[in-house]
Parts: sequence; C-alpha cells; structure tokens
Amino acid sequence: METILVEDVLHRFLLERAGVRGVLVRLGPAWREVAGRADYPASLRALLGQSLAASALLTGNIKLDGALSIELKSTGALRLLFTECTDRGRLRGLARWSDPLPEPLALADLPGAVMAITIGSAERGQRYQGLVDLHQPDLARSLEAYFVQSEQLPARIVLAADGEHAVGLMLQRLPGEGGHDAVQDEDAWSRIEHLTATLGADEMLATAPEQLLYRLYHEENVRLFEPRPLAFGCSCTRERVSAMLRALGREEVEAALAARDGEIEVVCEFCAQRYTFDRIDAEHLLSSPGGSQPSTTAQ
Ligand SMILES: [Zn+2]
Repeated sequence: METILVEDVLHRFLLERAGVRGVLVRLGPAWREVAGRADYPASLRALLGQSLAASALLTGNIKLDGALSIELKSTGALRLLFTECTDRGRLRGLARWSDPLPEPLALADLPGAVMAITIGSAERGQRYQGLVDLHQPDLARSLEAYFVQSEQLPARIVLAADGEHAVGLMLQRLPGEGGHDAVQDEDAWSRIEHLTATLGADEMLATAPEQLLYRLYHEENVRLFEPRPLAFGCSCTRERVSAMLRALGREEVEAALAARDGEIEVVCEFCAQRYTFDRIDAEHLLSSPGGSQPSTTAQ
C-alpha cells in the first residue's frame, strides 16, 4: 500500500548519482496551528515558520531521543522565538515580541541576540546544546554556519514560510568513502548546489514534496525513503506546570492566589491548554518534594 503524504511530512532522500543525502519537510496544518496562536507580524511569522520547519529538518539525519529545539533570545523587539520537534514528530513553537518590530527582521541586527539548538531529553538529563552564530543574513545561512562550526557534515539549507505552509530543504554530501573520487565529488556537489539555487520560495511553498524533488533533481537518481508523518503537539502536562509553580516559590504562588480569588490559572502558550490550581492544590505542590526541574522556556 502506498501512502501519499503531501502535508506535515518529513522525507529523507538520496541523490544517488551525486552522493548527496537530503531531508525535505513540508508543513501545512501543523504550521497553521502554531501560526494561528498569536497575531504575528508577517516578518516574524515567516521567521517562526522557517524555524519550525528547520527544527523538523534537523531531526531528519540524527538519532533523536527526546526533542530538538531552536531558541532565539534578544534584548530587542524580538524577545523570544522557540520551536521544537520531538522524536515522535510532534511540533510546537511560539514567539514573543514588542512592537515595533524592525522591518526587515534581520537576525544579525537584533541586539544581544543568542540562538541555541538543544538536542535530547531534559527528563533523562541527556542534552546537548550548541550555539548558533548570528552574523548571517537569515536563519538558513545561520544554520549552515552552525553545521560547519559544530563539525558536522556541511549542509546546504533552504527555508520558506508563508501563512499557509512552512517548507525546509537540507542537503549534505555523504562522507567520502574509500574509492570515491574527490574531484568528482566536488563537481557533483557544485552541480547540486547550482540546481538548488534555482529554487524560489514561491515554488517551494506551492509544490508537493515528491514533485519538488523530481523537478529539481530528476537527473540525479532520487531515492525517496518512507515519509515520516509530523503533527502539531504539545508536551505540557499538569505535572510540568506544577513543577514550574514550585520553582517560582511559595511567596510568588501565594501572591498569585491572593490576586486571583484563591485560584491560579496557567494557560499553555503553545497549545492554549488551561491548568487551574486552588489553595489546596497549591499547598500540595509547595509541600511536595522537588520533582523534575522545569526547562527554561517550555513547560
Ligand atoms: Zn501545551
């Protein structure tokens, strides 16, 4: 049975003739779920969509246990941008900003900006974090620089997003193995780079994955692997929200209870799930021992 997935999907593929591996991610409903959570200015919405596609893209060629997140913070108008893809293909993301947002939104111009890629599982204490150099004009170039600096296989990355779709394409040269001709590899890679450079954002957003790959690389013997489904999903739980409240401390929790007629309501910014705590719940969580540490941004 053949399944044809054209939305919310991750495709791994090989360009056999050139010795290049790739990942193509196309998001539709999952992206619209994230984009619809706030009234994002167009430039920020595009960046958020690109980042969401990229967080899925980066899971394509690694063994992931937990989640991969991309997180950007700055002291300027774009305060936070966070996107995440889990090992089960669950995606979520958000951005916080204050108006006016600079137009165009150039990563390199944001004051005090830092971007980090975190891979792994907080619960199991196995996390790797790498910092992304933000001296590049856009997110795709910044992620390419990250691949070089973290000594992984160099990658060529293309990202595009509008209100409907978010799409990402990543290409990597396969590591040179015995018998490979280095000069021939070099030619093949520049041929692929040349083909990839012809791809415009509009075409990328409008074309189904298989069609896009064959259109670009039809002479390169495209081998597609079984697609992986992706979907919007949030990992928030009452336990994690409790841990977050516990980390705030008794004073803050009691102040919040007093301010809201004895009830604290926490709304997850990713999925809008509501969690309420009354005085008895609050006393219970404050007096119960530690539990797992909450992560910095996400609940
Ligand atoms: Zn949630």
